Amino acid sequence: MNDFIYVTQPYLPDLKDFIPYLEKIWENKILTNGGPLHLELEKQLENYLNVPYVTLFNNGTNALITAIQALNLSEGQVITTPYSFVATAHAILWNNLEPVFVDIEPYSPNINVSEIEAKITDKTVAILAVHCYGIPCNVKEIEVLAEKYNLKVIYDSAHAFGVNINNKSILEFGDLSVVSFHATKVFNTFEGGAVICHTKAMKERLVQLKNFGIVDEDTIYEIGLNGKLSEIHSAMGLLQLKSFPVILSQREKIDSFYRNAINNIKGVQCINRGFVSQDNYSYFPIIVTSEYSLSRDQLFEKLKSKGVIARKYFYPLISDFEIYSKYNSFTPNASDLAKSVLCIPLYPNLEMNICQKIIDIIIEG
Ligand SMILES: *Cc1c(COP(=O)(O)O)cnc(C)c1O
Repeated sequence: MNDFIYVTQPYLPDLKDFIPYLEKIWENKILTNGGPLHLELEKQLENYLNVPYVTLFNNGTNALITAIQALNLSEGQVITTPYSFVATAHAILWNNLEPVFVDIEPYSPNINVSEIEAKITDKTVAILAVHCYGIPCNVKEIEVLAEKYNLKVIYDSAHAFGVNINNKSILEFGDLSVVSFHATKVFNTFEGGAVICHTKAMKERLVQLKNFGIVDEDTIYEIGLNGKLSEIHSAMGLLQLKSFPVILSQREKIDSFYRNAINNIKGVQCINRGFVSQDNYSYFPIIVTSEYSLSRDQLFEKLKSKGVIARKYFYPLISDFEIYSKYNSFTPNASDLAKSVLCIPLYPNLEMNICQKIIDIIIEG
């Protein structure tokens, strides 16, 4: 069983480096509720990302739900993409808002800005866009639209930790941006996430909302989740951050190896990662076209039979799940990509001979 190669494997620091953090937690007897390690991680992330305010959460989904809640959107529609992980749309419904799915661009996995504009109505209150695979959305054009129609913008940046454009973190764009620190993401705290915001007032609001909505001992105005990140999870984040440059350089090496190899295989394509000044190389999606000898599903099965577990990220489309069928709409680019995409293994300690083996299987067809 252990010989399977999965699409990802979490980066783990040396266990001996984790022990001193545990000793500190045992000594402090503070396990959660914004303890010292939690505060330290927020500070270090703000510095590392060079963003104004980071508010940690116990996962990306609770961060996303609370981010939408924090914007005080009363009823209405939120324009989003069907080409994402289902949590993106769940967060809209948890807030009693209505998702409106619009298509992605023809050559990118991200939402198409002119399609957004076509779907704006007087019920539209926000845009929830996803930097899919860590590839930046067209943030400037989305900003222009949001101003023109007075809409809030939330980015699901679950894949985009560590990505910069023009030397600025992609997480700075939008009213709020949400990252995930789940074990499968490029930066992990076992489970975890964060909301990036621009003002102290918003940060205070997020801190209240992730703590049951408690304002002070005697005051609660709103329902809030328990979205707090524990001290153990925060410790993992502090350690992970020290290794992040190494994580990135190992990912880069594999990304460029695959990119060169895939470009020489007929019928299989890579996705361009866009104009970034710093990439995070999260995910390596390939597109299996009709010119390839196998279908996407046949290639998936073939890899599996040789011990390589690729993933069909993102198939099915969110709008194709039964619970979302009443919001379904015509999104041909998203449907095409969902039918032909396959993410192949990419993680820091993946050995190059395994990468070569994966490429050899794909070449063989
Ligand atoms: C992982 C992911 C989430 C959810 O994050 P969790 O930390 O697992 O709750 C949300 N959106 C996208 C696009 C994701 O990939």
